Amino acid sequence: MATRPDLKELCRAEFAGAVSDLQRLVRQPSVAAQNRGIGETVQLLYSMIEAAGGRCEVLTEGVPGNPFVYAEFEGQSDRTLLLYNHYDVQPPEPLEEWTVEPFGGEVKDGKLYGRGAADNKIEIAARLAAIRALREQNGGVLPCRVKWLIEGEEEIGSPSFAAGIKYHAERLKADACIWETGSVRPDGRPDLAGGCKGMVYLQLRMRYGEADLHSGAAAYAQNPAWRLLWALSTVKGPDGRVLVKGFYDGIKPPTPAEEEAVRRMGGDIEGVRRSLGEDWPLLVHQTPELLRAIVFEPTCNIAGLTAGYGGPGQKTIVPREAQAKIDCRLVPGQDPQQIYDAFVNHFRQNGFPDVEVELTSMVPPWRQDPAHPFVDLCLRTAREAWGTEPVYSVSVGASGPPGYLADLHGLPIVALGCSYYGGRAHAPDEHIRLADLQTGIYHMALLIQEFGR
Ligand SMILES: [Zn+2]
Repeated sequence: MATRPDLKELCRAEFAGAVSDLQRLVRQPSVAAQNRGIGETVQLLYSMIEAAGGRCEVLTEGVPGNPFVYAEFEGQSDRTLLLYNHYDVQPPEPLEEWTVEPFGGEVKDGKLYGRGAADNKIEIAARLAAIRALREQNGGVLPCRVKWLIEGEEEIGSPSFAAGIKYHAERLKADACIWETGSVRPDGRPDLAGGCKGMVYLQLRMRYGEADLHSGAAAYAQNPAWRLLWALSTVKGPDGRVLVKGFYDGIKPPTPAEEEAVRRMGGDIEGVRRSLGEDWPLLVHQTPELLRAIVFEPTCNIAGLTAGYGGPGQKTIVPREAQAKIDCRLVPGQDPQQIYDAFVNHFRQNGFPDVEVELTSMVPPWRQDPAHPFVDLCLRTAREAWGTEPVYSVSVGASGPPGYLADLHGLPIVALGCSYYGGRAHAPDEHIRLADLQTGIYHMALLIQEFGR
């Protein structure tokens, strides 16, 4: 009986190729915010995917911004796994803070440096290598069908994502999806996540007349800064409760499986206290409270507040304009559009019809049922590949676009990857550890193999 080549060995054989793929990807800038290298990156991905045996398409129709790179790989079973990544990266600035070339792909001390190496070109390279290893093992096909969606605007807020996946909904049908992102913690445990918060971003503005006034006019002219502060004070009380009518409507209560999974989540209040510094007051005081707040509580945050003169010395004016930027992080059951409408109504009904409320961006919340068997498969294969107990976050406090896809097809989604806690994503000297790339290849290969069973 011919023995099938060992999957771990096959993955090891693909490692050198994965390192050179990652170097090629990093050396090709793909900065969405600066519209830099997008076409070249799409071509590079196209050729890499075709070389790995995939059928690649560049989707521009129905995608208003940077194209989607889309690929399909044939599989032995009729199950379909969808992979999500993004090929765009953050701008490399400030350049003077890099100790290596931002787009050099330099390897030193077991690490590979460059913008996008950690977020998230390492995962593209790992997934390609896993696919090659599995095709090698299975005579040119994968254990399951694999579809792959790589968008090009994630780092600027995925403005084309919702429209693009709706337009290409048929193509994107799958039984489950692996999202990007997941890093190795200092204790070596890999991070997996099954949720993120939604968001609605509002810009509030009060504006009168055509120019600032001499502050002698404060005797008789309304001050927009005071008006905006009074309006804001009606939004949230000192107890943290949001007073906008309808804000909490429809929130889905946590399920027993979510409660249980939150109890097992990593993180502790002392660590947060240390990282913020002792002088930063916290709203929660115990670890369970902290984890529940991160996962289950929506927020209403003032991200910016500006009016009048903020320079050195004094200036006596009644400013003509005051502005506030508000981001609300939302939990399942909250609809971003309805939250925006609720804010507009709130100001109108509370005596502030002069507040302009502009909706600058929104994204729906996403939370995967932790009791779904696909979550278990991801955790089981992570345990085997990394040789340690993975950490599963029921939700992270940040926001991203997986909710659009979950809402479109109702498929289970788990986020995982192979960058690490010290990888400086979005910052100068971004890098990955080559050992994590190797393990990441094996994890992805195991996952695709097991999913096809
Ligand atoms: Zn990313």
